Amino acid sequence: DVVVLGTFVADLAFKAERLPVVGETLLGQGFAIGPGGKGSNQVIAAARAGARSAMITRIGQDSFGEMARQTWSQDGVDISHVLVDETAPTGAAFIFVSTKTGDNAIIIESGAAANLSATDVRAAERLIAKANVFVTQFEQPIEAAIEGLRLARSHGVTTILNPAPALPVEDTIYAHCDYVTPNETEAATLTGIDTSTDEGALQAASSLVERGARNALITLGAKGALLHGEAGTHFVPAFHVADVVDTTGAGDAFNGGFAVALSEGQSPVDAVRFGAAVAALSVQKAGTAPSMPNRTEIEAFLRE
Ligand code: ADP
Repeated sequence: DVVVLGTFVADLAFKAERLPVVGETLLGQGFAIGPGGKGSNQVIAAARAGARSAMITRIGQDSFGEMARQTWSQDGVDISHVLVDETAPTGAAFIFVSTKTGDNAIIIESGAAANLSATDVRAAERLIAKANVFVTQFEQPIEAAIEGLRLARSHGVTTILNPAPALPVEDTIYAHCDYVTPNETEAATLTGIDTSTDEGALQAASSLVERGARNALITLGAKGALLHGEAGTHFVPAFHVADVVDTTGAGDAFNGGFAVALSEGQSPVDAVRFGAAVAALSVQKAGTAPSMPNRTEIEAFLRE
């Protein structure tokens, strides 16, 4: 089983010829609304990839909260530990995209998920204890993430921290991590090391391991991923995708898939390959959660 602690946010994407400037009102060129939030995307990726999956979060009593429930129920995600806030809204992101340059400007409000506490996480201890893999990120308060990682570890559950968005954290958090999975930019922010070269990425991974993580797994976009730590040092290339449609959520697909493979007892390197396959399939479709592939698609892809 895979348990994910994180956020749901409704993604509201507005397209216009350019981004608005202060005080300006622009006519749009398109609008889309869809389920987002790293935690929710990762739990959907995991559920579709074939694991029994559960979500720990807070949502509001509003229409976006309904959207979250619908999204999870469609894929059979256990929501017995989704708490409903009476006053705070469900998280939402306003995304402005320029149709000319592709530039964007985003405001994310975590809403009710900003109220997730260490106590909320302790209330889910039994759920966490019976999982094989626990996954969390930094979109909800860090105290909640730390408590989840600590509890999971204390029950012998494999822990994955996807440190996104990259925030300044005490190094003590890494001691609770079997895997810390930043992308290239997050790894650079967390370590202060330029990760744009192969040596730089390896240095950043070593730095995360020195800080206490058992393994660092840095994703490098279309290049692949670097695994370094107790599992050894392995560069696992990405799958070549001829027609990339939308790379938003590639990291979420990767983390969800990686978690599922680990939960099945696959070796770390095989699990990275499985995560990369899930991500490679997801970038061939538009959207984040809706673009996550199912197990049949993943297995067919890995056989090709
Ligand atoms: P994020 O989405 O968090 O920025 P990355 O861009 O590093 O994360 O992507 C995560 C993983 O998704 C990569 O390690 C790779 O396996 C896969 N991936 C990302 N972009 C592509 C792509 N264009 N083609 C194939 N695989 C990709």
